[in-house]
Amino acid sequence: MGNVIKKQSIKKIEESAFYSPKHLQIETVNKLCNAKCAMCTIFTNKRKAKIMNLETFKKIIDKFVPYKEVIEFLTLHGCGEPLLDKTLSEKINYAKKNGFKGIGFSTNAGLLTSKISENLLEAGVDTLIFSIDGFSKEVQEKIRLNAGSFEKIYDNVKNYIKIRNSKNYKSRILIRMIRQKLNYEQWDDYYKYWSNYISKDKGDDIIRFDIHNCGGKVKEYAEMSLPESLQCNSNFISSSKVKVCPDLFERFIIFSDASIGFCSTDQDGYFDFPNILDDEIHNIFNHQIFNNYRKIWLKGGGNTLKYCADCNVINSRNNKTIPMIRSVGEI
Ligand code: SF4
Ligand code: SF4
Repeated sequence: MGNVIKKQSIKKIEESAFYSPKHLQIETVNKLCNAKCAMCTIFTNKRKAKIMNLETFKKIIDKFVPYKEVIEFLTLHGCGEPLLDKTLSEKINYAKKNGFKGIGFSTNAGLLTSKISENLLEAGVDTLIFSIDGFSKEVQEKIRLNAGSFEKIYDNVKNYIKIRNSKNYKSRILIRMIRQKLNYEQWDDYYKYWSNYISKDKGDDIIRFDIHNCGGKVKEYAEMSLPESLQCNSNFISSSKVKVCPDLFERFIIFSDASIGFCSTDQDGYFDFPNILDDEIHNIFNHQIFNNYRKIWLKGGGNTLKYCADCNVINSRNNKTIPMIRSVGEI
């Protein structure tokens, strides 16, 4: 009975032109990482370093249970390395038991031991995205500075794949390159190499996502970006496959302190939204600020808006190898 009421209430929300999130992103770790990647905004992030505690996570999941049918992805990352959270497997397990699907996160794989791999798979992780940005020691260690040696990262990921395969866990693996000036020429070899390890029949894939400026916050973006011939210079939205920024319409971001993020480039808390534990989900997701942005994007004026005007995330989405607006969690 409870579930029927919950489903009806979501339908009512959708019919009355309210937006419901399809992608819930809960940042479990903020501003803490074993790596120091040059393209990361962890260094300029204005919020406090924090790992979300298990109790807060459970309260948030409980609150989103009525939405679990419409939420296609639950990603547990943000501006930090998820494997630093010792309760990560428990969090995955709790979300899984509560019926959430598409549970995943991205990791630099530097801290991925056999034990952690087993725990994650046993907890029911649906997708693990490995952020590996080089096919040579020099490039990998330069881009993913301090994440771990090239050999260690490659071994950790291959070990995870072996464990996943040995017990036939229903969990997919995405090997992802953030394509940029230093590594774009390695793509073909990188793709060929990882093709030998992944299993397409399990849903695995090797993907690339072009470096972006994270709303203008990546200071050295110009030096790191791709040659112009490879960039998606779609003149912002005019010839884009993605006409509006999907973040605004689909993604609900909750920071590690339970405050609300605006979009995937927001690491600072651009706006003063109510805390997720203090208000209703549909009130926050249909807050006037979100709706004003949506309206202007739908009218073709997205590139006039504060933050959006300096942002080229949408170009990276258009150039992605998996032609889906909503692949599991991107940074
Ligand atoms: S691994 Fe991820 S969170 Fe850590 S510094 Fe690199 S991009 Fe940032
Ligand atoms: S286009 Fe705007 S809403 Fe979309 S990610 Fe960039 S800053 Fe955020």
